[in-house]
Amino acid sequence: MTETTHPQELTLLARSPFELRVHVSGDIGELDVRHALATGEMGFLHSFTSGSTVDGPGVRLVAWTSGCQFRCLYCHNPDTWNMTNGIPVTLWRATEELRKYRHGLRVMSGGFTLSGGEPLMQDRFAARLLAEAHKMRIHTALDTNGSLGDRLSDSELNNIDLVLRDIKSCYKDRHYKLTGAQIGPVLLFAQRLSNLKKPIWVRFVLVPGYTDDSEQISRIAKFAANLGNVQRVDVLPFHQMGRFKWKELKLDYTLDDIQPPTKQAVVTACELFRAEGLNAY
Ligand code: SF4
Repeated sequence: MTETTHPQELTLLARSPFELRVHVSGDIGELDVRHALATGEMGFLHSFTSGSTVDGPGVRLVAWTSGCQFRCLYCHNPDTWNMTNGIPVTLWRATEELRKYRHGLRVMSGGFTLSGGEPLMQDRFAARLLAEAHKMRIHTALDTNGSLGDRLSDSELNNIDLVLRDIKSCYKDRHYKLTGAQIGPVLLFAQRLSNLKKPIWVRFVLVPGYTDDSEQISRIAKFAANLGNVQRVDVLPFHQMGRFKWKELKLDYTLDDIQPPTKQAVVTACELFRAEGLNAY
């Protein structure tokens, strides 16, 4: 879905995260933002979407947070980079949204996924909302770029059943080129999750010319296999569905000429992960 949603038409529930949402927090003051971040009593959400089958096991309710410190060249939701592009939502309201879906999610062997943006940009809100979901016995997943994991304590991680981890690259320089961010904290969090035996699903975006060389994929596969807690790997073919957002936001989009990978390239990438004993799809 490639469309702009105007603030007056906004609902928390979106048809898809591909709705472009900008400047929807209105004139919220900086002090209110700081209070929200410090306490987690309020969060900033792009939207909720229901019925996802690709963001964890079963059918998922997904809350898309706003705010991300990475600047991935292939990000398909750059409107989530800026936290105040999101709708201010109290913890109570977000919890009530979860409550509405809790029985259905259990019946469909699904759960709740907190995604973004980077959810841990709002770590107090994320921790409290995931704790509420856990109390309702809803399966919980955190979809994270992995760089802010030290903001969660081990007991907060206990409220998360599954971590969806983007792995962009295993090389320091290439990671920086792809994301504008350092790889160190990402690797440290991966090791911590491994030590805690927290289940992980790895997500690897296959971008022709950027992430598709077999040497790099094999290295990521070895790294993931050595962690010992990776249950599956999803190879996600690059697509151009987010391009319109870059254009609307007047951001410098450098992947205009990149085509999605061929089916064979996706198969080959999966085989490289499987060669290390991982379940790859
Ligand atoms: S980590 Fe995710 S939300 Fe952030 S820039 Fe990268 S792809 Fe976009």
